[in-house]
This record gives sequence, C-alpha cells and structure tokens, in this order.
Amino acid sequence: MASRTADTVIVGGGIIGAATGYYLAKSGHKVVLLERSFPCSGATGRCIGGIRAQFTHDLSIRVMIESIRLFSELNDELGETVHWHQGGYLFLAFDEPRKQAFLEAIKVQRNYGLDVEFISSAECGQIVPGLNREGLLGGAYCPTDGQADPFHVTYGYLAGIKRLGGEVRVDTEVTGINTRDSKVVSVLTSKGDEFFCPNVLNAAGAWSDEICRMAGIEVPIAPDRHESLVTEAVERLFDPMLVDYRSDGCYFVQHIGTGHFVGCYTPVPLVPGRNMDATDEFITEMPRRMVRLVPKLGQVKVLRQWAGSYCMTPDGSPICGRTPVEGLYISSGMSGHGFMFGPALGKLMAELIACGKPSIPLDQFAPDREFGKAEAMK
Ligand SMILES: Cc1cc2nc3c(=O)[nH]c(=O)nc-3n(C[C@H](O)[C@H](O)[C@H](O)COP(=O)(O)OP(=O)(O)OC[C@H]3O[C@@H](n4cnc5c(N)ncnc54)[C@H](O)[C@@H]3O)c2cc1C
Repeated sequence: MASRTADTVIVGGGIIGAATGYYLAKSGHKVVLLERSFPCSGATGRCIGGIRAQFTHDLSIRVMIESIRLFSELNDELGETVHWHQGGYLFLAFDEPRKQAFLEAIKVQRNYGLDVEFISSAECGQIVPGLNREGLLGGAYCPTDGQADPFHVTYGYLAGIKRLGGEVRVDTEVTGINTRDSKVVSVLTSKGDEFFCPNVLNAAGAWSDEICRMAGIEVPIAPDRHESLVTEAVERLFDPMLVDYRSDGCYFVQHIGTGHFVGCYTPVPLVPGRNMDATDEFITEMPRRMVRLVPKLGQVKVLRQWAGSYCMTPDGSPICGRTPVEGLYISSGMSGHGFMFGPALGKLMAELIACGKPSIPLDQFAPDREFGKAEAMK
C-alpha cells in the first residue's frame, strides 16, 4: 500500500470539492482531491447553471451575495471563461399567497442590499417577450442573479488546484477513513493508496452520508431525483431564469452563448433515492409546461434529457462545518443550489479548515444545528 501525505484530502470532484480545494490550495494547503469517477459526474454535471441570491434564509442570502461577487471575478481568477452572465431570475406569482410570500422575501433580501423588486405582470412581459401573462399577478425580479457553465467553473477550479501544487485523482474511490481517538488519521482508496492527513473534507454530495459513516457519523441527508432537458439552440429570446412555483410549474433559462434552453421541474410527489433514470413522463410533461409559459417555444425541438440527485437536508439548507470527528469536515446537502453556493462555500469552508474561522459565520449551516424553519424559495 503506497502511503502519502496531504494537509487536506477532499472526497468528491463536484463543484463543492473543486471550489474548496482551490481556495485551500491558494491558502497554502497541500490538497489531494479524490474523485471516484470523473469530475462533474455527480450532480454538478447535471445541473442547469442557475445562480441567484433570492432566498429567504439570511445565511443563504449572504453566502449567495458573496458567491455572485466571486462568479463575477472567476474569469480572471481562473484564467478561463466560465460563461458568467447576469441575466436575472424572475419568480412568477400566479396567486395572491405567492405574491405575498415574494413580497415578504423581498423585504429580507433588500435588507442585505439586494437589488430585487416585485414587478407588474406587464413589466414581466417586457423582460420576457412572448410570456403568457394569463393569470399572472407579477414577479420577484432580481437582475443581478445569473448563470454560468458548471463544467467550465468546476474544471477551472480543478486546474487551479493543480497549478497551485495540489493533486486531483480521478477514478479513485475513497473506501475508508481511519480515525484514532475520534481524530482523522488517514484516507484509504480503491487504488490501494493511504493518504495521511489531519483534515478530510467530505464533499461527496448525494453519497456524503456513506463517507460520514466510514468515520462512524450519521448525517441527515436524503437524495431525491430531479430531471432536466435541453433544447436545440435558437436565437436569443430572453435573459432571466423563469421560475414558476405552481405545483405543475417549471423553471428554465436560455444559456448565454449557445442559445440552448435548459430546464427542470420538481416532481410531485418527490422521487426519493439515487435513481438517475430519465422518464417518459418528464419528457412529455416538461415541454408542455415550458410552452404554457412561453407559447413560441412550441417551435423549438428538445435534444435530450437526463436526471440527477438533489441532496436534501431536513430544512433545505446545506450542512457545512466540523463533525464530531476532529479533522473531518462536511460540505454537503446542497439541495438544488450547490452550483451557485459553490464559490462562496468553497472559500468559506477553506477559511474554516485553514484558519479555524470563516469570514461569514456558517453556524446556521452547522451539522449539529436544530433543523428548524425550511427554506421557502427552494
Ligand atoms: C437537474 C438538476 C438541476 C440543477 N440545477 C441547479 C442550478 O440551476 N443551480 C444550482 O446551483 N444547482 C443546481 N442543481 C444542484 C447542483 O447540481 C448540486 O447541488 C451540486 O452540483 C452539488 O455539488 P456537490 O459537489 O456537492 O456534489 P456532486 O456534484 O454530486 O459531487 C460529488 C462527487 O463525489 C463523488 N464521490 C461520491 N462518493 C465518492 C467516494 N467514495 N470516493 C470518491 N468520490 C466520491 C461523486 O462521484 C461526485 O462526483 C441541480 C441539480 C440537478 C440534478
């Protein structure tokens, strides 16, 4: 068995592992990132790239304001384009309770300086030409929200880790974590290596409960399946991510640069587990929902569909911080928001691991918190 050393071993090559590894390497840590398949093979490569600060949980809003700042500097930071575009998010309200809920959320968001407002149905129509405004009361619109390319962002961070002297190992599964006196000692891999390290970051997404179990810890993480599709590329129709929270609603955005539409809906009821099969139901239903909102999309062909996991927690907010095993950290439970949280949580978790204290306290995401009020803008 070959043995090696690292300051921090990171389990998982999705956005969370990649971003945290980058900021750790930048702070001088020797980082080894272990990915059992290929980077982005988990949820990150299946995500549609939406980025927003419109949340109801205070910490999520603060973290996302920081993430949006980091996204806007990523081209320079990583030395390649990540296709960041501030096209906004428009949450549509088709009934009075939803409108009131958005107005409440906007009050909280504006306290943090977010440029968000409730706009009329007619204004929604100006931002999204061709929008079907039947029954539409208006929408919560934040022009500083946006989109970026999950592959370019993640691979950019991974390249940065290597540039800064770290290692990224693909096709390398973590098979065990050795502890002594409730303290991390080493990490074992499917390739027969043992990495001795004082710190391990569990960034294994929907599999992070398995990684915690290797050290004798349970975390309340439950994956469920979400499907997605991409259409052919068409001329630019509109900028924002459109979100329709009705039980038969959906959300979709046109990718900047390519012109493809990508979108999803949340199934009712939810589909628990790590099953990633794509279904006939989704490919029939999703285009119908998109066309109901923007009828001219009826002309646009669907190219393909896929599925991935949302990694859910009891309150819909991430689980980030120290675990009861000294040196074992977790950054997981990202629901449908891990891509957008990635840069800021990566930086903050790196500060926690390297300096003991993140510049934005993450206590409200701590693994041992009371799981209370659920995030309303999931
Ligand atoms: C259809 C869909 C649409 C989405 N849209 C958005 C969106 O618009 N915006 C947004 O912010 N988020 C979105 N999300 C959510 C987002 O994709 C996730 O929250 C995010 O990618 C989670 O990143 P992660 O790094 O935690 O997990 P992952 O990307 O799943 O990475 C975890 C990695 O760990 C690896 N791993 C697991 N076990 C081991 C092991 N034992 N050893 C080594 N490696 C291991 C896996 O192979 C995997 O690559 C979407 C998700 C889906 C499914």
